[in-house]
Amino acid sequence: MDLVPSPNASAREPVLAYVGLGANWGNAGAALQTALSRLAQAPGVLACRTSGLYRSAPVDATGPDYLNAVAELRTTLSAMDVLALLQALENQAGRERPYRNAPRTLDLDLLLYGDAHIHAPTLEVPHPRLWGRAFVLLPLAELAPERVSAQALAAVQDQAIARC
Ligand code: ADP
Ligand code: MG
Repeated sequence: MDLVPSPNASAREPVLAYVGLGANWGNAGAALQTALSRLAQAPGVLACRTSGLYRSAPVDATGPDYLNAVAELRTTLSAMDVLALLQALENQAGRERPYRNAPRTLDLDLLLYGDAHIHAPTLEVPHPRLWGRAFVLLPLAELAPERVSAQALAAVQDQAIARC
């Protein structure tokens, strides 16, 4: 019998991970709904809570307004496995990257993974552009108010955003 725990998903303690969702190309509302239900049903995701939907103007880019939301996943997946899941869902939604900050059929970013600090070539957590963006901080604060300070919210209060 093998007494060494295997490094599979179910062997881990569950972690609360926060995922930012955004879309501004094609049917953005349908893309977010599909992504949220696929996230909730993904292997290794034990529970999923969702913020309200927000509409925001593109930052550092042109194009249609974005629809945004944040999901809280209670998950036994590793942070790298969450990233792989997010990228698979982006690809299923037809995500293309013709140029930086191009309009997106679906953008999924790993914002927080428990209290982890990760600096890997393909993954930075907390997400490096988390703090300056109202479209991330407002929905995140709905789900995890203890993770978003009043100062952080004050710093983005002039950004154009509306709760749908
Ligand atoms: P954006 O940074 O505007 O969301 P992309 O969605 O195209 O742009 O992501 C570019 C790369 O960012 C991905 O290939 C991914 O490896 C990397 N990345 C680094 N940290 C993260 C993170 N926390 N969440 C999602 N992607 C990340
Ligand atoms: Mg992204």
